[in-house]
This record gives sequence, structure tokens and C-alpha cells, in this order.
Amino acid sequence: MIECTNCETAQFLQITKSRVYFQDGEMIREISERYECTLCDGTGTYTYTEDEDGASVSGDVQVTKERPRFA
Ligand SMILES: [Zn+2]
Repeated sequence: MIECTNCETAQFLQITKSRVYFQDGEMIREISERYECTLCDGTGTYTYTEDEDGASVSGDVQVTKERPRFA
């Protein structure tokens, strides 16, 4: 899931913009979502790209796994 890096919660995140890019008219190639945290006014972008087999984020958001990570 996506959460705010400042608040460390997804509770206050809102999707302000969402775009889906298609390939050949059927396959989803890329998903881009812009998030805004209503608590700290942070913004970030989540991008999932089929080609690169994964997701990336920038800004004030981070992707968290289902299970907690301990360094
Ligand atoms: Zn926040």
C-alpha cells in the first residue's frame, strides 16, 4: 500500500490525479497516481510500469509491504 513518508500512514492520503496508459489498446502499460496528504500537505507520485516489472514512487509517499520491514 501507499503511505505518507512524513506521517507514516495512508490515512490522510488522497489521490488527486490518476492516469492509465495503455499499450495496443488493451494491455495496461503504466499507471500513474498522484497523492496528496491532507495532514502534512505532502505530495507524491506512484508509478507502476509493466515493462520494468515494478512500481516506483517519488515525493512524500512510499510503498509498504504487507508485512512490516525491520532493518
Ligand atoms: Zn503526511
